[in-house]
Amino acid sequence: MEKSQIEAIQLLLKQPKNIVIVPHRNPDGDAMGSTLALYHYLISLGHEASVIAPNDYPEFLKWLPGTDLVKQFEFDEEECSKLIAESEIIFTLDFNDLSRVGNQMGNILETASSLKIMIDHHQQPSAYAKYMYSNVEISSTCEMVYNFIEFLGDESKIDAVIATCLYTGIMTDTGSFRFPSTTSRTLEIAGDLMKRGANHSDIHNQVFDTNSYNRLQLLSCALGNLKILKDYNTAYISLSQEELDKFEFKKGDTEGFVNYGLSIKGIVMAVIFIENVQDDIIKISFRSKGSFSVNDFARSHFNGGGHTNAAGGRSETSLNGAIEKFISILPAYKQQLAP
Ligand code: 5GP
Ligand code: MN
Repeated sequence: MEKSQIEAIQLLLKQPKNIVIVPHRNPDGDAMGSTLALYHYLISLGHEASVIAPNDYPEFLKWLPGTDLVKQFEFDEEECSKLIAESEIIFTLDFNDLSRVGNQMGNILETASSLKIMIDHHQQPSAYAKYMYSNVEISSTCEMVYNFIEFLGDESKIDAVIATCLYTGIMTDTGSFRFPSTTSRTLEIAGDLMKRGANHSDIHNQVFDTNSYNRLQLLSCALGNLKILKDYNTAYISLSQEELDKFEFKKGDTEGFVNYGLSIKGIVMAVIFIENVQDDIIKISFRSKGSFSVNDFARSHFNGGGHTNAAGGRSETSLNGAIEKFISILPAYKQQLAP
């Protein structure tokens, strides 16, 4: 982050402010960890702050310190709109475009007169914020929030609560420190967070060891549906609404399923197509190994984006229609998909 921006933010935060902090829609560990960490930090400075998530988030994150205070725009539009209108500063975390919070909330944020500050690590950020801390090379927004607090000279304010939130998002976004986005700096920060009171073992248990029997049955169904397109070193999984219903799908249950395809030897791209009848879309997750950019692929064909090796998108066709479209596009990428 540029020195002039840091100084401007330091000046801004000298007086108590009314602040709203927003993660992306369907928030994940990094989105919730970073917003809650920033929340606890800003409260410790004496500001008024609220975290407003666009919609609900998975149960496996609902132990994070402060989770009970999180408001959901989808559940309480009136109160959330009022908080946004009354805010002086809006922090947007872990997303790069206002469309990522959904149309209605996106419009409200766009027209709000509050000063906006973005902290995010996704590619091709839109320039909607006055101050932008955007860096696509950093593992997670949580790592960036750690840096942000450090930029402001406040490392000493990172207590066990903030450390727990930050560690959670770094752990989830790096696939427990295994993705190439993990740097020595990431591990140093994780180590420092442990020193400050984050319990790595407890956090891992809370996030990953809370499977239900139904979720494992759904995983079994997903793996049964896994197909390999050998010519393109690609694997894909599909889950229909009927299959999700059969195993009483709950938000977050399909988290990580796409990685099974990528764990197959020689696979360069793995994809999961998930039917969502309520939203009338097929939600698609893309993962890749090496230089194949699923960000470009999702952006070009499926109205999405993300990072080089992890991106999301959507299709407004049927489940089969989305898969057929996907398969028809692959020949154009044959060379790029060579191992
Ligand atoms: P996931 O597949 O786990 O939903 O998302 C993978 C990555 O891509 C995450 O960093 C997520 O924020 C981003 N992402 C997911 N869906 C979309 C989308 O529709 N548009 C954009 N720009 N990014 C997305
Ligand atoms: Mn993230």
